[in-house]
Amino acid sequence: ERKGESEKMEVRELGRTGLKLSSVGFGASPLGNVFGTVSDEQAIASVRVAFQSGINFFDTSPYYGGTLSEKVLGKALKALGVPRNEYVVATKCGRYKEGFDFSAERVTRSIDESLERLQLDYVDILQCHDIEFGSLDQIVNETIPALQKLKEAGKTRFIGITGLPLEIYTYVLDRVPPGTLDVVLSYCHYCINDTTLEDLIPYLKAKGVAIINASPLAMGLLTEAGPPLWHPASPELKSACQAAATHCKEKGKNISKLGMQYSLLNKEITSVLVGMKSVEQVEENVAAARELATSGIDEEALSEVEAILKPVKNQSWPSGVQKS
Ligand code: NAD
Repeated sequence: ERKGESEKMEVRELGRTGLKLSSVGFGASPLGNVFGTVSDEQAIASVRVAFQSGINFFDTSPYYGGTLSEKVLGKALKALGVPRNEYVVATKCGRYKEGFDFSAERVTRSIDESLERLQLDYVDILQCHDIEFGSLDQIVNETIPALQKLKEAGKTRFIGITGLPLEIYTYVLDRVPPGTLDVVLSYCHYCINDTTLEDLIPYLKAKGVAIINASPLAMGLLTEAGPPLWHPASPELKSACQAAATHCKEKGKNISKLGMQYSLLNKEITSVLVGMKSVEQVEENVAAARELATSGIDEEALSEVEAILKPVKNQSWPSGVQKS
């Protein structure tokens, strides 16, 4: 049963780009089998139900599943059979199964490879993927100028950067001319257990850069099933999140719904990218957004979960090349 047009999902402006993104975005890393195996049929159905429910934003990377996510997303978007301007596609460059390479030569080749896998003529957003693993000075002096050329060539409409440590954003944005970057994609820093992105929002707004927030479920920490084995959180953080999930379950509530709604509350964030691998998950996350719009968040469950997570609040993990 599909919901009517009147219940279409909220859209928010992506900074000064003119793009309007659904508040819930489709994170396609699960289509690369990084959270368990997903069949093509399951992927195609998930993308279709997402689009029909008002989700118009899809994020991938050549890194996810060693190019598999891009290929499967391309197939699923093509299967929608709708005009290209009805959906927004973001991919990335510089991070691959084989390792990192942020050279101008590699990222310039990368977009052509991505477009071929995605079966598209252009992407809407091209982002340097996890820049804390590269040299930030190379990102400023070489990678971003290369992406600007790709923008001029029409292969991408907008450009951005992604990564975990929040210092990377100020480092880069303080060193490029105003208006150079259109968007940043931060992850795991605006969810119930970690809200450190909040302090950076005024700075990003002043720089005219739009904000995308990924991993509202902290890459599986805020789920009943728990995170995948590769999850980098400390045992302490993992068990606190598991305790919060169990607490919700015992009260007949769902930690993932609460987590999704929490991240959606901040309207300075254009879109919340959640990784989805089944029609059921799409429907749950869409329902969470709709319910938030009509009835607000469950304040009682939220404060209980916040209390359980207080000892680990804002705890993160190292990412990138460590500074000497
Ligand atoms: P997430 O917090 O969205 O969690 C995903 C996990 O939660 C998956 O196991 C998924 O199956 C599960 N899930 C989703 N909806 C659920 C529901 N309703 N109930 C129970 N479980 C549910 O983490 P993520 O997938 O890593 O992040 C979302 C997306 O953001 C990624 O797919 C990717 O597109 C993007 N991202 C980008 C970067 C980067 O650029 N460096 C980093 C992280 C994420």
